[in-house]
Formats: sequence, structure tokens, C-alpha cells
Amino acid sequence: MNLNTDIDKLLTQQTKEWDLAQENFKSLETIQERELNLGKCIVRIQYNSKRIKSTGANVSKDAIKKRKCFLCSSNRPVAQRSIDYNDYDILINPFPILKGHLTIAHKKHIPQSVDYYIDMFELARSLDSFTILYNGAECGASAPDHLHFQACKKGLTQTEIDFKNCVGDRNISKAEYCRKLTIIKSRSIEDLSIKFKTILSNSIEYSSIYKDAKLNLMCRYDEGEWTLYVFHRKAHRPSSYGVSYLVSPGLIDMSGIIICPREEDYLNLNEKDIIKIYDEVSE
Ligand SMILES: [Zn+2]
Repeated sequence: MNLNTDIDKLLTQQTKEWDLAQENFKSLETIQERELNLGKCIVRIQYNSKRIKSTGANVSKDAIKKRKCFLCSSNRPVAQRSIDYNDYDILINPFPILKGHLTIAHKKHIPQSVDYYIDMFELARSLDSFTILYNGAECGASAPDHLHFQACKKGLTQTEIDFKNCVGDRNISKAEYCRKLTIIKSRSIEDLSIKFKTILSNSIEYSSIYKDAKLNLMCRYDEGEWTLYVFHRKAHRPSSYGVSYLVSPGLIDMSGIIICPREEDYLNLNEKDIIKIYDEVSE
């Protein structure tokens, strides 16, 4: 039994039989994107009105406490199916940004925490036609109270394209790439863990409410080798959030696809705005 094939079957089944998923995956096929050249790098701006709930979410501790957790199995829509994977349920994300967008939710309602990074590395190896994504509790996660990863088909983010031929480990500064990024590679899960723990203890701050690391992670596995991308964060949202633009950066935005749920933001955001957003949220 191949997990990747089972997930493809789940995607086909859910986009056929679950109306919400069908509509949103269909509109993804004709989604509007435009490209901006920031000088040091390229970003894509995506107009995705379905993401308003996530981008506009009130993620204060009070608001999170009051709402029903949408990742707990008891609160999920009846039409939402899952694939059982160790301590997790693999679900399709009904508000997709990228092809094959999945949410991988822990079976228990426990807070988002980077301490589960081994699970992410194992997921990358098991789901090797996907890239696995992680948003720190206060760095873009819309359910900071329920541990989860996301996944999408490999090679779709701008960062994967930009560093496709990267060999060995790299420390990429803001001066080079508008946001701070560390790339580590390894053929051993133990070695990858040691390298990642060193980054965590040396250069990552922790957030105040959920005590999770201020970062976004992306991990993929190619023929025996892991690649882990670490985006270093200092702020949850930019100062323009809700004032001029509604952009709430998570991993996908940090990896070069800026999500705009409002059309006016999609049309008006320029190079200077994106550089400022990255500057304010990245280390
Ligand atoms: Zn929950």
C-alpha cells in the first residue's frame, strides 16, 4: 500500500463528493496570480478570496478558546474524510492555496509545537510526492491550539524553485533574499535533527502566548535526502495588517506566494510593500 497513492485517491474522492472542496479546488485551477520582481528575488501574489477566514482570523487566546476547533475530529464536517497515519489524520484542506493541499492534524487537541519536528521529517519521507509545511503557533497558524502540519505537491513554492540546485547547507540573509532563510540537508534523520536543534537553540526566539518557536518550516524528501527550509521570524503580522493590507504571512507567503483574500490588495500591493512586509515579520 502506497500512502501517496492513497492520498491522491482521497483528493479525487473529496473533490468529487464534498461540495465545498469541489468548489474551492476547482477555483484553484483558474486562480489569479501575478509576479513581482523584488530585485533580490521573485514573489507571486495570489488572489484567493476563499482564504479570508484564515487570513482574517482572530487568533488571540480568548478568541481561540471561544471557537469550536475545526481540526478536532468531533467538529469536522461529515463529508470530510481522513487517512489514518500514526498519531495523525491526513485531511484535504478545503481552502487550498496550492495543488494537493493537505492538513495533517494530530488526533489529540494539543497545541502547535515545534517539538514534534521528528514527526514532520517522518511525514516528508512517507509522503515523498509532497512538501510538508509547518507554521509556528504565532507565525501564521490559524489553529495554534491544535497541532498540525500542511502539505502540498512538491516543487510549487517559489523558494523550492529558487533553490532547486542548492547543494549542502546554506545560510541566506535578508540582504540576499529579503527574508532570513536557513537550508539544511541530510541523508540521516538523526543528523538532520541535530542540525535543526542547533539552529533552534542558537538563533530562534520563542513566542509569548503559545511558547512555540518563531519560525516557518518546509521539508521534503528526495531519494534518501531530506531538505529542511527554516524561515526565521520576529513578528506574527506586519504593521500594515488590517490597516492598509490584509496579509498574514505563514509558510506559503514566506516561501514566495503572497496570499491576498481581498481583490484590492491583490491589485495594489507593490514591490516596496512586499519588501516591507518581509522586513517586519522576518528576522
Ligand atoms: Zn482541536
